Amino acid sequence: MGGMDEFPEAVRSFRRRLLAFYDARARALPWRESTDPYAVWVSEIMAQQTRVETAAPYYRRWLERFPTVTALAEAPLDDVLKSWEGLGYYSRARNLHRAARVVAEELGGEVPGTVDGLRALPGIGDYTAGAIASIAFGRAAPAVDGNVRRVYARLHDEAEPASADVVRWAASMVDPDRPGDFNQALMELGATVCVPRGPACGACPVEADCRARAAGTVHDRPAPKKRSAVRREVRAVGVFVRRGEGGDRVLLRRRPDEGLLAGLWEFPSVPLGARAGARALAAAVGELARGLGLVAGDAPGGALEPVPHAFSHLHVTYRPWVVGVRAAKGGSLGQGRGDPAGSRWADPADPGELALPVAQQRIAEMVSGFSRRSRSDG
Ligand code: SF4
Repeated sequence: MGGMDEFPEAVRSFRRRLLAFYDARARALPWRESTDPYAVWVSEIMAQQTRVETAAPYYRRWLERFPTVTALAEAPLDDVLKSWEGLGYYSRARNLHRAARVVAEELGGEVPGTVDGLRALPGIGDYTAGAIASIAFGRAAPAVDGNVRRVYARLHDEAEPASADVVRWAASMVDPDRPGDFNQALMELGATVCVPRGPACGACPVEADCRARAAGTVHDRPAPKKRSAVRREVRAVGVFVRRGEGGDRVLLRRRPDEGLLAGLWEFPSVPLGARAGARALAAAVGELARGLGLVAGDAPGGALEPVPHAFSHLHVTYRPWVVGVRAAKGGSLGQGRGDPAGSRWADPADPGELALPVAQQRIAEMVSGFSRRSRSDG
């Protein structure tokens, strides 16, 4: 493979075998049905950091809800985040929304058809620009994601190939007639055959070109990434329940517009010591309640099961503690929404248009079970 680009026939043969593999073996993924630039773009953003099985139903619903780039641009951010709910890495949704506005307002609604034009939009990096340009516009641009990088590292038998080298190799190999299929074929190869552990080299269409296979170094190519330290955090979560005729309501708070899970809704929480007992948890939540101007009410309380959640460099354990609350004198707690500032009272079984991250959804589910049980007991 090394220096294969000096042998045009070898390159052509490589492309032919890879494309034949793709034609025969490609999984039928919903986004492979369309080359509409907007649809390709949405699928590429969704599929990052998300398993295809998870992304597929989201993709379908998304295109029903926001069928065009203009429809997306015109939608309120809360609707966009709500549709993304459960996919994680919400900055992808916010950037998609911002970029759609740029396309609608500054580019006449036309998704740019070049790598540079795409690259200039929020949330679109080299990989995504290459994928959209090749799949939707037929441009012979490389698209190097983690799968493709691994395949090339093995083909070239390099432990730690520099990104620039991988991009150069990829650019020299892209099939000029079917660049989108070629790029997807490499990704497919990496996802289904040339997998990180235990690749199926015997079933690989480019085995004959693979230097790592010849050298017996496949399992060390590429070298495993050094992991950066993961921070751990425990949070005391205040589940403040207000009893009412129409059922229980819980207090949810909107996160700031910047940073982790920006703009999403959650139960209020504060940091807690890693080894804190139930008493310390209750005290922390009591403090939180006072800070929010809430007064203890008659609904039953207590601990719910802890909910762990792993972000990329942060592991959080949420420890929910339920507290019944009522209106303070002169307070506006009895009203439907808007108290305290930036917060809302919501039905835990159906928070409506409020977008909740996965861990918060889990807490809301437990709360509605807890509420139902305590209502039927009492
Ligand atoms: Fe990957 Fe094995 Fe194919 Fe080499 S021969 S590209 S290691 S699957």
